[in-house]
Amino acid sequence: MPITDDARDLFLPAACASCRSASAAGFGLCPDCAADLAALRPLLAAPAVRGAPPVVAAGPYAGTLAEALNEYKERSRRELAPALGALLGRALAVVAAEVPGAVLVPVPPTRAARRARGFDHVAAACAAVPGRPPVHACLRALPRPDSVGLTPRGRLAAATASLRARPRAAAALAATGAPAILVDDVVTTGATLHAAARALAGAGVAVPAAVCVAAA
Ligand SMILES: [Zn+2]
Repeated sequence: MPITDDARDLFLPAACASCRSASAAGFGLCPDCAADLAALRPLLAAPAVRGAPPVVAAGPYAGTLAEALNEYKERSRRELAPALGALLGRALAVVAAEVPGAVLVPVPPTRAARRARGFDHVAAACAAVPGRPPVHACLRALPRPDSVGLTPRGRLAAATASLRARPRAAAALAATGAPAILVDDVVTTGATLHAAARALAGAGVAVPAAVCVAAA
């Protein structure tokens, strides 16, 4: 980032993470962009990968939502966590009635991705879901190749090789008998969710559904 951008960030009020043309009023968004996100209605995503759990997303990966999500992830605009957590909460409300007693299991970042961003962006959004549903971080991600350029089958293989249940944490969750709702930022092919669900199922945890901030 050029030094002038750093200086601007230091001395001016933060710009809206989505439109960048107005000052952020709170939680990193201007009132208009916040209203755009509030107007979104959850949708049932249709992952291409067979065997992925059903996925409800807070909205399509486009416009205001895509901009805000990218700023949150790629520029570490952590102040957006409450806005994105609220969106996850609305997606969760669609599936929660069907899955009583469920806990949230965030899809983890690889160590490299976490280091690059400085935080675990999915876990931070989970922690900001209204009502504070229980969150169990019982997955871990081994290094994986960038999914850009991979075939759908290649994506699935890479995700399956990368995602693992944390043995002790997953066993503790399995012992409670509670089902898990997977949480991720964006669902594209569903390969990651499929692999995550498989890793949890292998540890005895049922995954009847997933929620995402956006569906691409
Ligand atoms: Zn805006």
